[in-house]
Amino acid sequence: MKITGDLHTHTTYSHGKGSMEDNVRQALELGLKKIAITDHGSGHLFYGVKKENWKRMRKEADDLQKKYPSIKIELGVEANIISTDGTIDVDKELFQLLDVVNVGYHYGVGVKKISDIFGFYILNLLAKGFPALRGKARRVNTKALLLAMDRYKIRMITHPGAKVPVDMAQIAQKAAKKKVLLEINAHHGHLTAKDVKIAMEYPVKFAINSDAHESRHVGMVEEGIKIAQEAGLDPKRIMNVEGDGTK
Ligand SMILES: [Zn+2]
Ligand SMILES: [Zn+2]
Repeated sequence: MKITGDLHTHTTYSHGKGSMEDNVRQALELGLKKIAITDHGSGHLFYGVKKENWKRMRKEADDLQKKYPSIKIELGVEANIISTDGTIDVDKELFQLLDVVNVGYHYGVGVKKISDIFGFYILNLLAKGFPALRGKARRVNTKALLLAMDRYKIRMITHPGAKVPVDMAQIAQKAAKKKVLLEINAHHGHLTAKDVKIAMEYPVKFAINSDAHESRHVGMVEEGIKIAQEAGLDPKRIMNVEGDGTK
């Protein structure tokens, strides 16, 4: 099994260490056919893309595409859920500017309304120490993601099950219906093999990505491939690999 494109990489526009061009060149070096630049949504308080930079990034991506026509370069975002109602930190205008929108849970994100501070953050933090709250946290997190998939055109859920607990069967079922990819993230180790096995029961597709925060990590997905193999996932269901999965 060999990766053909890396759909999740970061640059200095959020908290990555390389430039967009560094990531593109590394992808070319590896013979990839596609690379997506997916920095953190502006709702992240510490390393979201500064709002004024999105247009500049669009131009930079377009210029790079002209310079490197042999690889498909996509400009995307790793958006944040900012409310229990499934709102994400990408508005209509930004949707127009971007090629793809991915969504994932992260801490350190500004919220839409005051009630989300408890409904999300405090609940998830308390759930780590108090098992009795875990069920409630899982329900709230899952519902918000399901609503987000209903409300927006999303390409992929990044590292499902990392950061906060979710109900994987419900997420996979909705993702299959909405044609949203579930990510096997080589950096975070989520989906886990156990989660892949649950998700596989539904007709959902997957992608294996590096989540590179340094250009030299672009395309490094060995840990993700191991997870897919451990789960016995058919490579035909992984949209960015080639090969039959035997090695
Ligand atoms: Zn992430
Ligand atoms: Zn990421």
